[in-house]
Amino acid sequence: MSRTGIYPGSFDPIHKGHIDIINRATKLVDKLYIAVADSPHKSPLFDLDERKEMIENEFSSNDKIEVIAFDNLLIDLANSLDAKILIRGLRVVSDFEYEFQMLGMNRQLDNNIETVFLMADAQRQSISSNFVKEIARLGGNISNFTNKFVEQKLKDKFK
Ligand code: ADP
Repeated sequence: MSRTGIYPGSFDPIHKGHIDIINRATKLVDKLYIAVADSPHKSPLFDLDERKEMIENEFSSNDKIEVIAFDNLLIDLANSLDAKILIRGLRVVSDFEYEFQMLGMNRQLDNNIETVFLMADAQRQSISSNFVKEIARLGGNISNFTNKFVEQKLKDKFK
């Protein structure tokens, strides 16, 4: 049986915490869709195409991975892709409450989709897109937090 997973997020931009989760998730599934949420309410720094491009650049050599954009209900997207495994990353305790609620709601929408929570390596657990952007905006060194391609994109944004 082939297993298809979906890893949704804003990825504004992708960082080493996301990359760690994606590498772990690919060990669990045969195909992984990285689903980039439009998230206009979050006023993203990068548009959808830019966010997709940064993920594709990181995983171009991995044919298990496909990057897609979405603006509909996640459960509907998962069903349309026949993805039965929803991947989420857990960082801090405060993530738990939100994730707990989201899992409960999603389960009521479709009880056939299982959510799998993964944790990144200790030094990557604290990374968040918001902090990466803030440090980049202030001219700090973000090389520990994201890859060279994203680093350059952030430099271009804030120059
Ligand atoms: P945010 O909620 O900060 O905007 P995303 O929407 O891009 O982040 O995150 C997508 C998924 O990746 C979520 O499940 C989130 O918990 C997870 N994630 C983000 N950063 C990390 C990290 N450093 N370690 C583990 N999981 C993470």
